[in-house]
Amino acid sequence: MRILVVEDDDVLRDGLEQGLALDGHTADSVSRCIDAREAAAGFAYDAIVLDIGLPDGSGLDLLREWRREGRITPVLLLTARNMTEDRIEGLDLGADDYLGKPFDLGELGARLRALVRRDGGRAEPRIRVGPLEIDPAMRRVSIERRPIDLSRREFAVLEVLARRPGHIASRSAIEEAIYGWQEEVGSNAVEVHIHKLRAKLGADMIETVRGLGYRMRVSAVL
Ligand code: CA
Repeated sequence: MRILVVEDDDVLRDGLEQGLALDGHTADSVSRCIDAREAAAGFAYDAIVLDIGLPDGSGLDLLREWRREGRITPVLLLTARNMTEDRIEGLDLGADDYLGKPFDLGELGARLRALVRRDGGRAEPRIRVGPLEIDPAMRRVSIERRPIDLSRREFAVLEVLARRPGHIASRSAIEEAIYGWQEEVGSNAVEVHIHKLRAKLGADMIETVRGLGYRMRVSAVL
């Protein structure tokens, strides 16, 4: 998943970025409202982790703006401990969840997975496409219960495709989903990941749609 982190505390922001990366996500992080606005307008994030007290405004105002504009990205608010009013206001403004500081990174990861799962209309935490099963929490993949060992990027590419089987994901959409701003992306990086995924999962699972991108074969859904 690609996640936007809006947090002005440097230590916390770095910790969040590293923790999310360890969980297999790609995190872009900003510390001001103005940058958060620009980031959210430029990319459809899977989820946003939003601090409230920011140097150039309030995260609650940002949230209000986004919801007014019709932006439906799941938002998890980071609130100060005991700030019940912030939580109530945030939830009423359209936040999907909150965590009080200090929080546990493991809990944050689990809450984000739950948010994205519900956003996709799924209650079941595991993704199943035919014989393929993906467990986003444990980052495990299996085919007919046989475990498959994937790298972080391979897992991320597979997750993008498996969340919407039968739908085409363009190369640039896959790149955007798995690489953050600061990362150098080789011109054939996606092709390389797809090639490795096919070698590990079987050649039939992922189809190339010439000129458009890739998709999980519909036959694999049956
Ligand atoms: Ca703050």
